[in-house]
Amino acid sequence: MSRIAVVGLGNMGGPMAANLAAAGHEVTGYDPAPGAREAAAAAGVTVRPTGPGAVRAAEVVITMLPTGEHVLGVYDELLPAAPDGALFVDCSTIDVASARAAHERAAATGHPSVDAPVSGGVVGAEAGTLTFMAGGEQAAVDAAGPVLAVLGKRTVHCGGPSAGQVAKMCNNMVLGASMIAVSEAFVLAERLGLEPQALFDVMSTSSGQCWAVSTNCPVPGPVPTSPANRAFSGGFAAQLMLKDLRLADAAAAEAGVEPVIGRLATARYAEFVTRDPRTQDFSAIITDIRRAHP
Ligand code: NAD
Repeated sequence: MSRIAVVGLGNMGGPMAANLAAAGHEVTGYDPAPGAREAAAAAGVTVRPTGPGAVRAAEVVITMLPTGEHVLGVYDELLPAAPDGALFVDCSTIDVASARAAHERAAATGHPSVDAPVSGGVVGAEAGTLTFMAGGEQAAVDAAGPVLAVLGKRTVHCGGPSAGQVAKMCNNMVLGASMIAVSEAFVLAERLGLEPQALFDVMSTSSGQCWAVSTNCPVPGPVPTSPANRAFSGGFAAQLMLKDLRLADAAAAEAGVEPVIGRLATARYAEFVTRDPRTQDFSAIITDIRRAHP
């Protein structure tokens, strides 16, 4: 059993803290939102009135926050409050520059740290089946292993500090672009009189095969579990896809790389989210593509 603090008890951090408590760890937590605090307390987390109060006795500190700005602000409060040598694991999806700064600030105060953004969404957080993309020194990633094993099914050590964020961003740039390409293919097929099931049968077993076809198919029918079968509810919100694409754009600009397709995908999702701000799975972009081609 370890003493673990979870700071940021929202849609992802809440169920992650609950799973750690259910696994027998001594879990403390903090979130400024009363609803998040109440839900965590009901799930066996000892909720403290402040972040520093939550980490005071922690061996491991997990943060699950909206942006890099939040993470750096919270690190500045928590690093001096945590016991010497406590391990910091940031599971938020944030920009690479902030991830690097977070590692530097942790190192400067004697804390080992890992960036460990996730894939798997709220369903994976609840089920304890997340995938972690970890960046950091080997010893820190090894130390995080037993805790991450409670929360997920797989941890990939991607490299040194911030490598996890780089991997997550590159993966999601491909995912955003491929969902648009797949949706355009289904709309084109519809217009040319090809049944969606026929296109699926070909693409899912041919060179067009990808996750956007085989798992998250944007048309109802071929993959019964895909969000398209339930009016695009659940799944990975288009707003979060846009957030990740923007992180990729910013990192590319900093690295002097011009990801033409990535940028187009960002612009496409930005238009979609502005036009239709409902929280829908990102595969709902197909509705926007149909709308653009009446
Ligand atoms: P969320 O908005 O539900 O939760 C974030 C929580 O952080 C909120 O409860 C908020 O009150 C809290 N918070 C804000 N400032 C704080 C502070 N100073 N101290 C403590 N808590 C603070 O967001 P989420 O969906 O849980 O996402 C968290 C992170 O996980 C994001 O970086 C997101 O990009 C990433 N992510 C989310 C998903 C998903 O499907 N929701 C999937 C993969 C990755």
